[in-house]
Amino acid sequence: MKSKIFVALDVETKAKALEIVGDLKGLGACFKIGKQLFTSTGPELVREIVGMGEDVFLDLKYHDIPNTVAKAGAAAAELGVKIFNVHASGGRKMMEAVREEMNKFTNPPLVLAVTILTSLGEEDIREVGFDRTIPEQIAKLAKLAKDSGMDGVVASPLEIELIRETCGKDFKILTPGIRPAFAAVNDQKRIATPAEALRKGADFLVIGRPITAAENRREAFLKILEECKNA
Ligand code: C5P
Repeated sequence: MKSKIFVALDVETKAKALEIVGDLKGLGACFKIGKQLFTSTGPELVREIVGMGEDVFLDLKYHDIPNTVAKAGAAAAELGVKIFNVHASGGRKMMEAVREEMNKFTNPPLVLAVTILTSLGEEDIREVGFDRTIPEQIAKLAKLAKDSGMDGVVASPLEIELIRETCGKDFKILTPGIRPAFAAVNDQKRIATPAEALRKGADFLVIGRPITAAENRREAFLKILEECKNA
């Protein structure tokens, strides 16, 4: 990976996405393409950005029967992305099928699992039938993801230490909810600065608006790299 920072391309059009990629050219930024951009522009844009030599995390959070998710994962690997993700609650068989499919590639992408969406609170998870507390459920699903061959998890900054304790030092942790010291918090709640998240043990950071909505995106990205040095 070029760096630890994935810039979230949460925009509606190909033109806007390419503008951001262009603005950050040569600084070592990696890019995250999620459901909004992928649904409106399709895999062509992923191919194009990968073709420009950029590292891409395809954030589509697959959750389906094992064969479907394994084949979707293979399609993501064919696109040349460096990371994609699945929902751990899709279960062991689903994740093992993805692992098996990835083992057919010489240089497969990292596969990360989402445990509990950070938008869910204790009441929400009770309503969908989980009886554990959120930290207990996260630890359980992270462990299952590891046992099922996943390379790591997506986690909020507040969960990093719990996952490190449960899954060990080689398990990758990618964390959104990052707000550099200079940036607005926006709608994020459980946040950390880049240096805090790295100190707690995050391997990769996802940062969107503090970079994409900045007046000078290059400057914002460089300031964040500077902040990371304090980790
Ligand atoms: O602009 P901002 O830095 O808040 O963007 C964060 C990115 O990470 C968005 O693409 C958002 O969907 C994603 N994300 C998140 N919190 C999660 C999971 C994903 O903010 N728990």
